[in-house]
Parts: sequence; C-alpha cells; structure tokens
Amino acid sequence: MYKIIDGKKLAANIRSELKKNISEYKSNFNEEIGLAVVMVGNNPASQVYVRNKIKACEEVGIKSYAFYLPEETSQKQLEDLLYSLAEDKKVNGILVQLPLPEKLNAESALKIVPFEKDVDGFSAENVGKLSQNSECLVACTPNGVMKMFESENISLSGKKAVVIGRSDIVGKPMAMLLLNANATVTVCHSKTQNLKEECLSADILVAAVGKAKFVTVDMVKEGAVVIDVGMNRGENGKLCGDVDFENVKKKCSYITPVPGGVGPMTITMLLYNTYITALRSKS
Ligand code: NAP
Repeated sequence: MYKIIDGKKLAANIRSELKKNISEYKSNFNEEIGLAVVMVGNNPASQVYVRNKIKACEEVGIKSYAFYLPEETSQKQLEDLLYSLAEDKKVNGILVQLPLPEKLNAESALKIVPFEKDVDGFSAENVGKLSQNSECLVACTPNGVMKMFESENISLSGKKAVVIGRSDIVGKPMAMLLLNANATVTVCHSKTQNLKEECLSADILVAAVGKAKFVTVDMVKEGAVVIDVGMNRGENGKLCGDVDFENVKKKCSYITPVPGGVGPMTITMLLYNTYITALRSKS
C-alpha cells in the first residue's frame, strides 16, 4: 500500500512553525527579517512566482523589498542595485528572479550576491560548501524534498537513489544532498544509457526532467519512494509532474503528487533560508 506525501500540508506546518520563530526573532532582536526580490522585465511566469514569494513572506512575517526593474535595465543598473542590497543591513536575503532578459549576464550579476544572503543557494560558495557537506544555504527545491523524507522518517542511509536530471537548481544539489545523507547515488540525464534499468534499481527515485508522464510504471521498483519534481502542462492544460502518477503509485511505498507535492515546499524553503540567514547574522 502506498502513501502520498502531502507537500501542501507539510509546507503549511513548516510555515506555521517559521511564523512563530520569526515573531520570536523580531521581539528578541527588535528587528525585521528582510528579503529583497529583484525582477527584471515582464516575464508573466516570473511575475506570478514573484507575487507568490512576496505573499508567502507576508504570511510568515518576513518583510519583502520588491524591485521590479524595466526590460531595458542595463547590466550596470542591475549590478549597482545588487551591490547596494549586498551592503544593506535590513536585507537578510537577496533573490534574483530568473530568467533575466537575454541581454543581461545573469552569472556575473549573481556573483554580486554575498553567499550569506544567497537564499536560492546558487552561489559557487554555497554549492561548494554543499559538496563538502558543511553549513550552507541549500537550493530550495531539493532542500524541500529532504524535508519530505524527514517528515516521513524515510531512511536514506545505504539506499540506492537515482536522480533523473542534472540541472544546477534541482538535479545536482538533490544528488549531493542524498549523497551527504549516505545514499548511493546515480545521476541520470539525456545521454544516460539504460535509463530504465538504472531507475529499476532505485529505492529512492527523484524525477526532475520536465516531461509529462516520463516515468512509467515499468521503470519503478516495487516499494520504491518516488519524488516527482516536474511541473508540466499535460494535454488537458492541467499542471502535472514527470511521473505517470496513477499507474506508478500502486508500485510505490511513498509518492509525491503534482500539484500538492514538491511545489509548495519550494517557496517554504525560501522562507526558511531567509530566516536562517537572519539567525546566522546574529551568531
Ligand atoms: P532542466 O534544467 O531542463 O533539466 C532537465 C534535466 O532532465 C536535464 O539534466 C536533462 O538532461 C534531463 N533530461 C531531459 N530529457 C531526458 C531524457 N530523455 N532522459 C533522461 N534525462 C533527461 O530542468 P530543471 O530546472 O531541473 O527542472 C526540471 C523539472 O522540475 C521541470 O518540470 C521544472 O518545471 C520542475 N521544477 C519544479 C520545481 C518545484 O518547485 N516543484 C522547481 C524547479 C523545477 P541533460 O542535462 O543531458 O540535458
């Protein structure tokens, strides 16, 4: 019998705990916790993400500073803003909403964000520290997946984990977190040979591909834990994951749904990282 990991419920629990902790922080230090969100241009999906992040901040008591810069913003204007936010004591975390317009160099802009304020966990310092298994800010989506394992007491040590996808924001940090938790990890990608066999060997299977119904029931081992990070539009236009949920679930011990699985955990971990940056600035 499988169990569905309810990301929405877990996210709500973590947010309510965070709200209490943030309120305590504010009364202990007589200070707000601030997150700066920088967006350039009018990408409609980014506008929705930014709105959701700001709303989530408000709900837990984090003060947000939103910077909506026009499409024609120059590299220098963007970088000047990031330098000033890097220095600003009111700002504990800085998030640059990606993608930036094509003419801007995201890599050089992101380098300006100090690693202590890098709440996305994308900086070379944070990625390097993660690979050394030392204290750092971890990319929000894979960190949210780790909280899901923790909430269900799913042990990872000695387990065979397969991650499909090797992006910097999901696949690679996910693999590193699983390795740090003593799983034996295989990372698959578009050039992987024998993907099905690799997946069939997985006790823990994480799909971060970006293709609807990519993981089918014949790729899943009996009793596996299946985590679906994908966010795709199915043929009917509805949000769906990378996993053929209806068929795969019968074979799993645990599975995450889409929507209501990993998705709600991502913004929650952004709030968590922002709180952590504030706490660390006091220690
Ligand atoms: P991405 O950068 O496009 O990476 C996709 C990965 O899948 C790549 O490593 C690619 O391999 C691999 N891949 C593509 N086709 C494959 C195939 N046929 N066989 C094996 N591997 C294949 O995507 P991403 O940013 O990691 O995101 C992945 C999915 O997660 C998307 O649906 C995205 O919307 C979703 N997502 C969800 C959240 C959330 O909060 N739930 C957050 C972030 C992303 P190559 O490297 O060889 O190209």
